Amino acid sequence: MKPFAYVNPANEKDAVAALTREHEKALPLGGGQDLLARMKDYVTQPDRIVNIKNALDATAKQENGGLRIGAAMKMVDVAEHAEIGKMYPAVAAAAIEVGTPQIRNQGTVGGNINQRPRCWYFRNEEFKCYKKGGNRCFSPEGENQFHAIFGDGPSYIVHPSSLAVPFVAYDATFRLLGPKGERMVKAAEYFTMPTKENVQRENVLEPDELLTHVILPAPGNLKTGHYEVRYKASHDWPIAFATVLLSMNGSTVQAARVVMGAVAPVPWRSQAAEKALVGKSITAETAAAAAEAALTGAQPMSQNAYKVPVAKTAVERAILQAAGLPIA
Ligand SMILES: Cc1cc2nc3c(=O)[nH]c(=O)nc-3n(C[C@H](O)[C@H](O)[C@H](O)COP(=O)(O)OP(=O)(O)OC[C@H]3O[C@@H](n4cnc5c(N)ncnc54)[C@H](O)[C@@H]3O)c2cc1C
Repeated sequence: MKPFAYVNPANEKDAVAALTREHEKALPLGGGQDLLARMKDYVTQPDRIVNIKNALDATAKQENGGLRIGAAMKMVDVAEHAEIGKMYPAVAAAAIEVGTPQIRNQGTVGGNINQRPRCWYFRNEEFKCYKKGGNRCFSPEGENQFHAIFGDGPSYIVHPSSLAVPFVAYDATFRLLGPKGERMVKAAEYFTMPTKENVQRENVLEPDELLTHVILPAPGNLKTGHYEVRYKASHDWPIAFATVLLSMNGSTVQAARVVMGAVAPVPWRSQAAEKALVGKSITAETAAAAAEAALTGAQPMSQNAYKVPVAKTAVERAILQAAGLPIA
């Protein structure tokens, strides 16, 4: 591993200052599970790493009827937090399914949201893909079992964060802090689809900024479903998953939010599925029709067509779960 400097600031202002030191490539360090793995694989080689665990907030506090979650909060604490579980059950459900107890004990909210893609070409130093300054994505002609089924490139990664999907569904806002002060960005606008110009990035965070908080609005009276499909029940990223939020007027859906994970370079909201639910009662048939709508337009590659029915099942089951109906 290339030698690097280590900085351990005690507050968010000093952490941002440590990131902006000239002539050095500096990166924030949360639990380090993604960053250190990339450093050991020679994929990322910072000159300095800035520990944010003593600098950023690691708590969840009530704010304006919602919750403000610090980026240094560990995933285990998110999964076990009583108010998060009560107010935003899909966030707790996503956190509890991440990896293993060790990963959840170590990983932070900020690190989970900002972890880099798990694409095996990106993670292998031998492949100079778009994400590493190269001029191609290797997946369309290569091994693409776990790659995107939505979006038309130029990179076909899927976003790796499980928390990102419910954060988009609940319309969370991310607080970012940089040398010029703070800015607030909606979760749905934080994650970016790849273009030729920004293909090396997955979000709008600038290199001298930190994500310090996730701000969740008052949840209202929502019914929630969150369903993940994995190859095996133990540790691994999901093949496809979905968060569904329903706002009901009696037995009729008044508003719906359907967001899928592991199918696109960003958390993938399906307005077609939402439209298919609004004004309807939830039955096995309406759930299946909305799931069908959610996958309309999917463009699988040579080895990942199986993800289409898997994602459809995840959406369908999340809808049934939200409505309190049995999952077949
Ligand atoms: C076997 C296995 C299974 C896994 N399964 C899942 C899964 O199902 N779902 C899932 O979501 N993840 C999964 N993970 C990934 C794991 O959850 C992440 O690696 C972890 O959440 C990263 O958190 P961290 O705090 O360790 O991040 P770090 O490695 O510290 O940071 C990750 C990246 O984010 C940047 N960063 C960290 N904090 C901030 C901040 N506050 N502001 C801006 N940038 C920041 C770092 O510079 C780095 O680039 C799995 C990992 C393994 C090994």
